[in-house]
Amino acid sequence: MSKKLTKRDEDYSKWYNELVVKADLAENSAVRGCMVIKPYGYAIWEKMQAELDRMFKETGHENAYFPLFVPKSLFEAEEKNAEGFAKECAVVTHYRLQNDPDKPGKLRVDPNAKLEEELVVRPTSEAIIWNTYKGWIQSYRDLPLLINQWANVVRWEMRTRLFLRTAEFLWQEGHTAHATEQEAITEAELMMNVYAEFTETFMAMPVIKGVKTASERFAGAVETYCIEALMQDGKALQAGTSHFLGQNFAKAFDVKFATKEGKQEHVWATSWGVSTRLMGALVMTHSDDNGLVLPPKLAPIQVVIVPIYKGDEQLDAISERVNPLVKELRAKGISVKYDNRDTHKPGFKFNEYELKGVPVRIAIGKRDLENGTYEVARRDTLEKQIVNADDVVAKIEFLLEDIQKNIYNKAIEHRASHMTEVNSYEEFKDVLENKGGFISAHWDGTEETEEKIKNDTKATIRCIPIDAKEENGSCMVTGKPSKYRVLFAKAY
Ligand code: AMP
Repeated sequence: MSKKLTKRDEDYSKWYNELVVKADLAENSAVRGCMVIKPYGYAIWEKMQAELDRMFKETGHENAYFPLFVPKSLFEAEEKNAEGFAKECAVVTHYRLQNDPDKPGKLRVDPNAKLEEELVVRPTSEAIIWNTYKGWIQSYRDLPLLINQWANVVRWEMRTRLFLRTAEFLWQEGHTAHATEQEAITEAELMMNVYAEFTETFMAMPVIKGVKTASERFAGAVETYCIEALMQDGKALQAGTSHFLGQNFAKAFDVKFATKEGKQEHVWATSWGVSTRLMGALVMTHSDDNGLVLPPKLAPIQVVIVPIYKGDEQLDAISERVNPLVKELRAKGISVKYDNRDTHKPGFKFNEYELKGVPVRIAIGKRDLENGTYEVARRDTLEKQIVNADDVVAKIEFLLEDIQKNIYNKAIEHRASHMTEVNSYEEFKDVLENKGGFISAHWDGTEETEEKIKNDTKATIRCIPIDAKEENGSCMVTGKPSKYRVLFAKAY
């Protein structure tokens, strides 16, 4: 087994990078900023996808697929969106390579194969999708149009980190069209709520729902709703966004519909997305110095059974007891792995499953055979217990639920103890420096003040919480009046 993980309190960032690689989630690739997602990491992503996909369908959405490339002229059509993403766009200019006459064995771009129109590799798909919707929407009967796509996108990020910020990432993007403004706003809010329900129920990760300030808003949106999570090092992470796009894209792509009264009106739009960044959020929310801690609801292997034996005879006896247990657990929909490999020692296996965050580990040796017991260990608290064979299934079912609850509660407690209200800029800087976490403070609502705070401290306004209470306050920096507290934090 390779060297121990760096500890979180020594170097949180290093701990994260090491863990993602050692736990076999992902690794860096030959392409700068682009990662390879390994089978174990991909299995977790697939579980996330499955639950999200189910939730999207339950709220009336259908999946479709649109092209990777966006002709530049379409990309430009919604100016704010284009301007916002321009600096991060990869652009295809040619469609062919040829042998390089000056360098044998090398290829070069064929100068005669220049594209008539350059193609932008989608950083987000509003342009290509709204250009398509023009042909799909004529009348109020065609609305609402509720579509999602699972895809990859490319944003040429300068500072990248596995899962949290990559140049190419996997995500889903919902794109909906509505007859009225209110319907579109309701949709954008609904999807923020769907995201929050997903992260809390399945990832066991509490989030704060809110709206972004104008400067943090998605380029081309009228309002950006978001969910913000707090990582163990006290930094915030934007875990998902849902945008109310107004009529901006409908106007840019001339998407109109005939109302019931026969009038022509532009439609109203939303878009919403979560990405493989959620994998990074999952790791950073629950894992510890021994490795991953996975919520049972997303763990690719929920229960691992490790036999401890000498010789084939003992292994056979153990397998005879374990095989029916495996069957019974699978019949209950529990994913279980019986690791009877004889190429690795039990100690190695214990370390591996601890590192990979398998929620429940069962060990069975000679003494357990004689006593009719199992040793049951839970990954979150590392507690071990001897359990009678008759009770083991019930114990496993209990643990899978209890671990899910326990890690959620732990994350809630962590957040509660890292949520500080401050009333002066001094206090703000002090908390930011010495404690981190979310800081709730009054702000005068101007971009200048927001910018000043960011330049002074690197903290940004994560959101104006949805449930912010009206309060007569004054901005901690300028003293100007403020009606709501907003949440600040340093963020990933
Ligand atoms: P946006 O389209 O900018 O609202 O982003 C949609 C979702 O993708 C949000 O949940 C972001 O947190 C996430 N996201 C944005 N940029 C990246 C990136 N470079 N790598 C991974 N996820 C990202």
